[in-house]
Amino acid sequence: MIDFHCHTLHSDGTDAPESLALLGEASGLTALCLTDHDTLGGIPDFLAMQPRVKVRLLVGTELSCHFLGRSLHVLGLLVDPADERFQTRLEDLRGRREDRNLRMIARLAELGYPITYAEVRAQSDTPLLSRVHFAKALAARGFVRRAPEAFERLIGDDCPGFVPREELSPSEAARWIREAGGVPVVAHPGRFAGSGFRWDDAMADLQRQGLEGLEAYYGEYRPVEQRYFLALAARLGMVVTGGSDYHGAHKPGLRLGTGRGGLKVPDELLDHLETQQMRGSYR
Ligand code: AMP
Ligand code: MN
Ligand code: MN
Ligand code: MN
Repeated sequence: MIDFHCHTLHSDGTDAPESLALLGEASGLTALCLTDHDTLGGIPDFLAMQPRVKVRLLVGTELSCHFLGRSLHVLGLLVDPADERFQTRLEDLRGRREDRNLRMIARLAELGYPITYAEVRAQSDTPLLSRVHFAKALAARGFVRRAPEAFERLIGDDCPGFVPREELSPSEAARWIREAGGVPVVAHPGRFAGSGFRWDDAMADLQRQGLEGLEAYYGEYRPVEQRYFLALAARLGMVVTGGSDYHGAHKPGLRLGTGRGGLKVPDELLDHLETQQMRGSYR
């Protein structure tokens, strides 16, 4: 069993990279890829655990793109953590995130929820701030009773206090990932739009833009979604990956490896991914 998708406190998860490596082993995984949003900040501590655990530790990240008027997430799996150009590009993304964060603080103040940057900062153990830290800061000040309520009323995608980030195009994300030696993969396509969304044309478009794989196994898919995306990948000749999207205490009940209980990502997918990494379809 493999898990190609999870987060630490270097983005919006709650586990340290070292604990995640240990949890990967305890969960009986053969391989585990860390995919924090917009950063490889947790990777050195994660890889330093390799001699101490049997599970194979792999490098990745998760980027946000703009596609069909919505946010599409793209995983960069097996990127080279020593690639300086990629690191610079990630820094640029984190700069855009920080601009958004400052504008969101101003917006929330206008709406009558004046939290400060320092209060949001205090909710994170690492440099990257995401909306989960906003939610905790709003709860700490008593503006909402609990963090989930902040997403329902204030900072969820359709809420008045949400400010979107300036996002990449899928082709740009795919090129960045390819140029860093990784494989660009569409993350959780089942979460992109409603369940009625017909993916054939959209996924073929993403494939033309350089996306080489799709996440057909996912911690929160129903069996029918998994079958649908496995069949879609087979039709288009895209590589298949899968993961839990584990976030520690920020997604209660979602476990590394097994997700909500039914997830089992087959071991051979790592061979397929590494074959794809060597072949490359980026032109
Ligand atoms: P950001 O990257 O700062 O826009 O924050 C996105 C993160 O906020 C996601 O990865 C989730 O962890 C969290 N998030 C977004 N929407 C919701 C929601 N409706 N309920 C709970 N968490 C959410
Ligand atoms: Mn996340
Ligand atoms: Mn995602
Ligand atoms: Mn994720």
